[in-house]
Formats: sequence, C-alpha cells, structure tokens
Amino acid sequence: QAFPDAPFIEFRDVTFSYDGNKPILSHLNLTVETGDQLTLLGRTGAGKSTLFKLLLGLYQPDSGQVRIHGVPAASIPEAARRKLFGYVEQSFHMVPGTVRDQITLFDPAISDEAVQKAACLTGLADAISHLAQGYDTPCTPELFSQGQWQLLSIARAAVSDPELLLLDEITANLDAETEQHVLRALRRVSENRTVLSISHRTSAEFGRTFTLHGNAVFPIK
Ligand code: ATP
Ligand code: MG
Repeated sequence: QAFPDAPFIEFRDVTFSYDGNKPILSHLNLTVETGDQLTLLGRTGAGKSTLFKLLLGLYQPDSGQVRIHGVPAASIPEAARRKLFGYVEQSFHMVPGTVRDQITLFDPAISDEAVQKAACLTGLADAISHLAQGYDTPCTPELFSQGQWQLLSIARAAVSDPELLLLDEITANLDAETEQHVLRALRRVSENRTVLSISHRTSAEFGRTFTLHGNAVFPIK
C-alpha cells in the first residue's frame, strides 16, 4: 500500500534517542525524492548511521515519522525491504560460504545471471574468473584485498536491484587510489537509482552534498 504521491523517503520532525533520554537526532526533517543522489556529511557521532537504522526500521523514532513511499519504515515487511534497500556497510561481513554466497547471502531467488551482472558492474568479474573454482570458490579473508571486499559488498547490495542504495562510510578504510576505483564502481551501480550516502569526510562525497548537524540538514553547494 505505497502512496504514489509521497516522497521516496521522508523524515518528518524526527526525534530519536537510544535511551529515551538523550536525543541523537532532534526534530530532523529530510526528504529524498526518487532519483536523488546525495551525501550527508557529519562529524563522528552526529547520528548518521542511526539515521540509516531508522530507515531500515531497526528502531522507531521517539516522535515524528520516518516514511518510505508514505509507509512507516518500521512496518515494511522483510521481503519488501530487500527489494527496496541495498545497504553497503562500512566494513564487509564475510559469510561462511563461496564467493557466490557473499553476493546472494544464500537467497535462492537470486539467479546466476544477476550475480554475474553485479560482479561485472563492480569490476570483480575478472578477479573471480581467475579463482580456481570461480564463483564456487570457498571464501577465506585472504582471498580478496580490502578494496575487493568493499567491491563485493557493493555487489551484494546491488544484486537484488534495489530502488535505493544506502552507503555508510563506504571508502573510510581505503587508500586514495582504491577509493577512486570503488567510487567508479559505485557510479556504475547507482545509475538510475536513488542513493543516500553518509560520510564524515568530503573526499568520499557522492552526488549532492549536505551536512547533518543535530537537528537540521544543510545543503553545502
Ligand atoms: P561515525 O561517523 O563515527 O560513524 P555516526 O554519525 O554514524 O558516527 P552514530 O553511529 O549514528 O554516529 O551514533 C550517534 C550517537 O549514538 C553516538 O553518540 C553513539 O555513541 C550513539 N549510539 C549509536 N548506537 C548506539 C546504540 N546501539 N545504543 C546506544 N547508543 C548508541
Ligand atoms: Mg556511522
């Protein structure tokens, strides 16, 4: 039951605290329209990752509303959530399994074609084809470099063809050259998609840039 006229994402007067006492976000308003690509910059502890957790419905606001297509974020069913959100976390969490499993997270609905497409988009297809068992190679942490793991996490987010990509400090742990490589892959993956990125550094900005500052979101440019 989505509302066609509602914005894609809407934070309306959102106040949130983890302990019911000290607000992390206070009277926050933010609207993201379909097709927008933006980066929220904010210092460490500003509440950027918290904002994502509210979007993903992991927490509910103390007051105000977080809505996706007009529907409260916390009431979106899990299956719909995977179509809606591709979440790239700051650090990659390897699952015990093959290279394919890293991308599908064992979702049997994801086809081999979709896996290969995601690997191509992120520039990993070549590296994977050079592995002894290709996509069936069992994973160990040493199998890929840190940048390649980050690309795998982007492939994991992109493989279900989500409407929205959520990027949390995607290049925080990478050297400058690898960062550029990852940003190029992200531009390919984010074509024709809505993107919300958060970062505490300006070098990793993506799309239009805003600052998150306690209770307000200010455009920078
Ligand atoms: P960074 O740039 O370091 O990633 P951030 O802007 O993402 O910072 P958050 O992770 O959203 O910041 O944290 C905002 C505040 O909320 C911090 O003071 C943090 O200690 C607190 N916080 C985060 N997660 C929890 C939690 N699960 N329980 C209690 N407090 C938390
Ligand atoms: Mg964070």
